[in-house]
Amino acid sequence: MSSSPAAARALHDDAVVVDAHCDTLMDLAAGRRRLGVRASTGHADLPRLREGGVNVQFFAHYIEPEYKPDRALRRFLELYDVFMAEAAANADQIAVVTSWPELEAALAAGRLAAIISIEGGEALGGSLEVLRAFARLGVRAVGLTWNERNDIADGVGAAHTPGGLTHFGRQVVAEMNRLGLLIDVSHLAEPGFWDVLEVSSRPVIASHSNARAVCDHVRNLTDDQIRALAANGGVMGLNFCPPFVHPDRADVDRLVDHALHVLDLVGPDHLGLGSDFDGIYDTPVGLEDATRFPRLTEALLRRGVDEDTVRKILGGNFLRVLREVWGD
Ligand SMILES: [Zn+2]
Repeated sequence: MSSSPAAARALHDDAVVVDAHCDTLMDLAAGRRRLGVRASTGHADLPRLREGGVNVQFFAHYIEPEYKPDRALRRFLELYDVFMAEAAANADQIAVVTSWPELEAALAAGRLAAIISIEGGEALGGSLEVLRAFARLGVRAVGLTWNERNDIADGVGAAHTPGGLTHFGRQVVAEMNRLGLLIDVSHLAEPGFWDVLEVSSRPVIASHSNARAVCDHVRNLTDDQIRALAANGGVMGLNFCPPFVHPDRADVDRLVDHALHVLDLVGPDHLGLGSDFDGIYDTPVGLEDATRFPRLTEALLRRGVDEDTVRKILGGNFLRVLREVWGD
């Protein structure tokens, strides 16, 4: 098997690449840059995502702590308005997709398929009606918490007294199952993670979390969590945030260490990408922005990961879960 950069690039371009988490919308909402214009700041925009071979991008609507809890819903709607306007202004290059047929159509047309996700369940305002309205607006994934405690569960920041799903949290999980929304457990404290796996009737994702056995950070998943996520049919996305990759020398190969560990632990069907681009200040050496995704493909092949598995990591696994949760 060849692992030359050219062969890696060919495989990368041929594969469907899915990035399950970016925070690019933060810069867009602040008016710092535009989605369709290549910038010299930040990590992702349409030109750079195209150059990096990304085909499906989750756009997190991240609710900053200062809006919680009372203005969280309003903040979500403001972010949503900015994002939909940016998508409309670049409709030749990007399509917001809410179903499997729409995703397939976007890919066939050569457009970036954009998936609207929420990072921070405070946006629901404690209301299942709001959750259902979000589904109608096109939201297709919700991270139940960020780092704080909310009325659904505790985030990893509630480290001293971490609790699991609340009564409302259990209702949210059940309703998300019913609506076909992806449940994202990336920031959850461990008790909530276990509760979600017990309650959810569908695969769940950890959109942007690495392996704690490789890098001991609270945002990474333990081996027990990774095994349970895999048993549930779920997928975890490799996060490029340097402190989650390696304590002092994050680069492409140290990220591949996480991939190899997860492959060893649970096989090829439960790993994907969740870059966290534009939500992180620093980047690993070799993964400086969205144009660098092919470097990861190159490194995976160089380290002996077979081509079928690389395709699954690049996007096949997240596509499988999307199709399963959304339905055909
Ligand atoms: Zn995050």
